[in-house]
Amino acid sequence: MKIGRIKILLYRELEVTKKSSKRKHIPQRTCVGCREVLPKRSLIRIVRHPDGIMVDLTGKMPGRGAYLHDAYACWEKGLKGALAQALKIELTMEDKEKLSAFAKSLPDASREGKEEKGES
Ligand SMILES: [Zn+2]
Repeated sequence: MKIGRIKILLYRELEVTKKSSKRKHIPQRTCVGCREVLPKRSLIRIVRHPDGIMVDLTGKMPGRGAYLHDAYACWEKGLKGALAQALKIELTMEDKEKLSAFAKSLPDASREGKEEKGES
């Protein structure tokens, strides 16, 4: 009798783990550079802040956001218009300079090796 009960308990536990793993929702976002859809965490968020465009590495800043890969090529494409379109603004020269400076610190497959981050 006891053995039978244990079996049922184990079976129910298994069911629960199955359900919870199924229910796990991973938010997906589109990279505005290459239009690839990826889990939010593997993209970098750019946010439209009252003080200007900002790179939101926490992903928690308020404001309209757009997402880009951590790849220079995608930022370059994004800066040509897709990013401004996604954020529904026009990027100022200052914004573009700031963002392209950030983009240059990102790894780029077409460039050899990694450059040191020159943070001031
Ligand atoms: Zn991309």
